[in-house]
Amino acid sequence: MSVNKCPVIIAGPCSAESEDQLFATAKALKDICVLNDGRTLSVSMLRAGLWKPRTHPDTFQGVGAGGFKWLTRIHKELGMKVMVEVASAGHVREALKHGVDAVWIGARTTTNPFLVQEIASELSGSGIPVYVKNPVNPDLELWAGAVERLRGAGLSDITAIHRGFSFFGKSRYRNIPQWQVPLDFRGRFPDVPMLCDPSHIAGDRELVPEIAQKALDLDFDGLFIESHISPESALSDSQQQITPAELARLLAKLVIRQSSAPDGTMPRRIEILRSQIDVIDDNIVDLLAKRMEISAEIGRCKSESNIAVFQPDRWQKVLESVSSQAESLGLDQSAVREIFKIIHQQSIDRQREDF
Ligand code: PEP
Ligand code: MN
Repeated sequence: MSVNKCPVIIAGPCSAESEDQLFATAKALKDICVLNDGRTLSVSMLRAGLWKPRTHPDTFQGVGAGGFKWLTRIHKELGMKVMVEVASAGHVREALKHGVDAVWIGARTTTNPFLVQEIASELSGSGIPVYVKNPVNPDLELWAGAVERLRGAGLSDITAIHRGFSFFGKSRYRNIPQWQVPLDFRGRFPDVPMLCDPSHIAGDRELVPEIAQKALDLDFDGLFIESHISPESALSDSQQQITPAELARLLAKLVIRQSSAPDGTMPRRIEILRSQIDVIDDNIVDLLAKRMEISAEIGRCKSESNIAVFQPDRWQKVLESVSSQAESLGLDQSAVREIFKIIHQQSIDRQREDF
């Protein structure tokens, strides 16, 4: 985010459920005007899903194209921009016919190049802004491929949305954030703005503010948040939606960082600290290379003695030792274990080459 730029805020219910629900939500969101450190924060567009990609067929699947008339009314009476999710060429035709201001491609759709291509082709020539959520799995290439397909169809107003990644097992989050993936995406597409959808990362309204703050700390361009006039009665994603009043409180509390000092420079202290980090990173890469050389040598010795490459006891000892060192240094043990699993895998691969 450039100096003093205001974060973009898009909000609205997970699903459009009825004219009353949608209009009341839109009106309350439209009325949000929060002063935060000299900036005025407001909701720039209403999001509402008409076709819902639900996991189970016996749940609410959205009201479908019948909801466009409610969005049209909101656009006309409240002067609010509106956007819907599109997951097929048919959805795109309906959305364009009803003159929505923007569309988003959901996480499940981004995983499917056939669908992304048909959506891109159908949007071609419309010039409409397109928001692309990350795929459900942490696959940077699929996300990048979706942007390439849209650009290939001549669409240039593209924004990415980070909504976290699904996983198997227990986590604090509904979709784990794996912040490195959106940061890598930014490295690849520095000119594509990046919003964060803290609602789908959280899955729980209590966690939404801290995830929103984290995104701004990482210099995201704004937020894409689910907000419902009465979340408890929402027909989808009830746990993670917040009321417009809660959204206003969240916006008031956000600490909005600057990308750089007002004169465009980085404070001297940060430059010094960064150069220290650069030196440490160089050392880490050097050490990794040295470790790999030793692994290759071990591989050759094992081969001569006809010993198996993978030695589970030895690996357990390494893992225990680095975990306890991590703990004593106040590091996140599970993160350090993950790093060592990658290093170990590389080591095994190298040893197999020399076998
Ligand atoms: C949504 O935004 O309501 C939605 C279905 O999100 P996602 O595609 O991120 O699951
Ligand atoms: Mn939702």
